[in-house]
Formats: sequence, C-alpha cells, structure tokens
Amino acid sequence: MARYTGPVCRLCRREAMKLFLKGDKCYTKKCAIEKGRVTPGQHGLSRKKLTEYGTQLREKQKTKRIYGMQEGQFKLTFNRAERQKGVAGENFLILLERRLDNVVYRLGFANSRREARQLVRHNHYTINGHKANIPSMLVSPGDVVAVKTKSNESPKFRDIRELAAGRTVPSWLELDADNMTGRMVALPTREEIDIPVQEHLIVELYSR
Ligand code: SF4
Repeated sequence: MARYTGPVCRLCRREAMKLFLKGDKCYTKKCAIEKGRVTPGQHGLSRKKLTEYGTQLREKQKTKRIYGMQEGQFKLTFNRAERQKGVAGENFLILLERRLDNVVYRLGFANSRREARQLVRHNHYTINGHKANIPSMLVSPGDVVAVKTKSNESPKFRDIRELAAGRTVPSWLELDADNMTGRMVALPTREEIDIPVQEHLIVELYSR
C-alpha cells in the first residue's frame, strides 16, 4: 500500500485529537486541533455514533498514524506481539516503542517520528557504532543510538542538538545531549508509554 503523502494535520483532524505528527508546530497555536478544526470533510462533526467495530477500527488507525506505519508492517508487529508471553496489547506497544525511528524521536534526535524515519533512512544514526538505516529495526536494552559524527556537524543537527538539550526523555532511555547519544536502559513498561491509545481495542479488532 502506498504511503500517505497528504496533509498530516488532516490525520489529527480525522481522529479529533493531537497526534503530534509535525514536531514543533504541534506545540504552537498554529496546530489545527488547537484552532478547533476537527473531522475533515463536508459532514464534519455530524459523524454518526461509532459501532463497536468502528471504535476498534479508529483506535487502530489512530495508533498506526501516531507511529506512521502501514497496515502490513503494523499487523506483522502485532502478530509478533501475540506470540510473546504476557499481554498482547502491552507487548504490541512495547514493540512499537522499540522501533529505531521512535527511539530517535523519543531521544529528541528528530522533531517528529516522520522526520526520524526520513533521517534514519538517510543514514544519520548508528546503533552500537554500526550502520542503522532501517526505521523498523528494534532497539534493545543496553543498545546505544548515536547521531553520526559527520551528521552532527551539519546545520540541521546543530538545531536538533539545541532542542535535544532541553528535552526530557522517557525513563527507559538515557540521553547524553552533548555527544548526541542515547542508551536504552530498560524496556519500557506500559505505564511509561504516554500515547493515548486503548490497545485492547486493537487486540479485539484483530481477534475478529
Ligand atoms: Fe496534529 Fe501537529 Fe498538525 Fe496539530 S500541528 S494537527 S498535532 S500534526
């Protein structure tokens, strides 16, 4: 399936909530949701009450949009989570958080997951000193994610470095903003994943 290339704010409006897809703009008054603009389309807010299936579907779509994933890879990740021990929904979110593009974003080495994905593809980061240019690579506890020295010298990363210095990272990550490196100290727990998603609805949807 083709990647969505339309206006990203439209995706937030469709879910009627901020999905933080545009980096810094999301924290300003320019945000479409802040301006009170929600569901796009002619009928806007007059959307009918959702069925059980519709609610489950919206939760899945919202989560896919937050992580910027396509259905195929999203489902594959879910299948992997289901095979793991423990609660499938929680396993699923933990796998999504462990993606390299997400870790790069969480460390503040990119302004949004979308930007992180692009910068990962363009080969700006390493994991444990090795080339890492696949956004879906999973980061494990103990792994060190770093911005390449050469990339670090570019104006783009100078700006990112300034922003990263003021960022708070989740407790399962450790940031060394001066050296633009970050370490995963542990797997995240569900409580540490701050995305507004009811993952059990996704489990129910895929169990139909
Ligand atoms: Fe969503 Fe960010 Fe656009 Fe606001 S500015 S609608 S949070 S992508």
